[in-house]
Amino acid sequence: MTQEEVFKQLTAHAKEYGFVFQSSEIYDGLSAVYDYGQMGVELKNNIKKYWWDAMVRLNENIVGIDSAIFMHPKIWQASGHVGAFNDPLIDNKDSKKRYRADVLIEDYIAKIEEKINKEVEKGRKKFGENFDEVQFRATNPNVLRNQKKADEVNARMAEALNANDLKALRDLIIDCEIACPISGSKNWTDVRQFNLMFSTQMGSVSDDAGTIYLRPETAQGIFVNFLNVQKTGRMKIPFGIAQIGKAFRNEIVARQFIFRMREFEQMEMQFFVRPGQELEWFAKWKQMRLQWHKALGLGDNKYRFHDHEKLAHYANAATDIEFEFPFGFKELEGIHSRTDFDLSNHQQFSGRKIQYFDPETNESYTPYVVETSIGVDRMFLAVLSSSYCEEKLENGETRVVLRIPPVLAPVKLAVCPLVKKDGLPEIAREIMDSLKFDFNCQYDEKDSIGKRYRRQDAIGTPYCITIDHDTVNDKCVTIRDRDTMKQERIPIENVRQFISDRTDFRNVFAQLDKTE
Ligand code: ATP
Repeated sequence: MTQEEVFKQLTAHAKEYGFVFQSSEIYDGLSAVYDYGQMGVELKNNIKKYWWDAMVRLNENIVGIDSAIFMHPKIWQASGHVGAFNDPLIDNKDSKKRYRADVLIEDYIAKIEEKINKEVEKGRKKFGENFDEVQFRATNPNVLRNQKKADEVNARMAEALNANDLKALRDLIIDCEIACPISGSKNWTDVRQFNLMFSTQMGSVSDDAGTIYLRPETAQGIFVNFLNVQKTGRMKIPFGIAQIGKAFRNEIVARQFIFRMREFEQMEMQFFVRPGQELEWFAKWKQMRLQWHKALGLGDNKYRFHDHEKLAHYANAATDIEFEFPFGFKELEGIHSRTDFDLSNHQQFSGRKIQYFDPETNESYTPYVVETSIGVDRMFLAVLSSSYCEEKLENGETRVVLRIPPVLAPVKLAVCPLVKKDGLPEIAREIMDSLKFDFNCQYDEKDSIGKRYRRQDAIGTPYCITIDHDTVNDKCVTIRDRDTMKQERIPIENVRQFISDRTDFRNVFAQLDKTE
């Protein structure tokens, strides 16, 4: 299936079952802005809870805040966003389509890598059990030639981006003979820088003094509150501040559903450490964040690190955790060692002393920062796309099932009376009432039980219970498992424990390391 087809299917499913809607749909939509529906908001909240609790509950030295979206405009000068939060853009003169120059080149490299992978698969088929992938990659002439090409293009791109050399970036596009995917032509404009921040006016002032920005990241709200939190919370280094909130970027290339949005949500944690210890903490956070992802069970092979060759202006080490989306491995989370760049600059721009007195070493310093930053919406897409599954059943029918990790599933339990009479709905309602504050439950009495199971499969409900005529006497229900479709009979009084054993965050947290 092509990337477009996969997306079509996912978007259609996400819409049909109330996960994600295009924003302003009845007005033909607003590009790269999305709304979450009745199922989507539950999944999103569960993702946020998983992140928040893993940060601030599991770690005694991490606390949360919720800072405003609007901030003093000087903050964005201090952070470097006014001057440097740009993407290099290029237009195709024939299709009039606009692209990010670096993304065009990255896609070109991805195509070469695809060729390499195909060659490796051919080798695997040819040599069967004796296949040695490492040796094959090191010796096969086609693989070597393509790898050399990919490495060269990558190096040239990194050099051009690092030097902010827009002409070199354009030359690379021309040299690689990259064509516009729409018009097929290689008729490109020059590369220009484009600032991604949205601006608006505050109050009634209409000159530049009233210009403020919609924050492009939540991190700065943490930095400018460093002293407030450190002092009022009596925090001792190392410690972290976590925040979940909206961010806004006027993205040039805004395709790929909720992967790249203009309004999105971030979960960011800034960890303040002693200068000189940042790289140690950077390595530790890399592992802890990967562990957080893997504990969900979406598949260990779906993640990989991508260390940055081009470091952002504030970083001395940076990596992405990439996830295998339907369109290949792409950034899901960024982990950056941000040095003392932000705190020092805020100290300089605000004129306030932003330092920490370390009682252990008896000295004052500007702490260094390790940041972990993940998009809620990208995480949502990672969960949704890897959970979506079309299955052929033994009876020849197909079912669509979302194998969402039970801890994240929007609805944990469907309560289904077999028929709408004979006192069964009353028992079902009683069960529902006794459980609905423990888990999100859904009451469903419409249609055949088979159809109800399909509906629950399609929204990823891990368990359904059926109340039948025997229930009246034996006080037991049939519980059906979404993944195995197996059914077993259990006493009504055991249902709460059964569901909680299988959907409680505790099980996942038990697999995670802590900062202490
Ligand atoms: P990209 O290279 O994909 O543009 P980035 O490196 O600019 O991302 P960061 O600034 O590191 O992203 O932001 C941290 C996280 O925020 C990303 O890993 C991603 O999950 C999320 N994110 C960033 N931009 C967007 C967006 N436009 N839509 C949705 N999520 C986003």
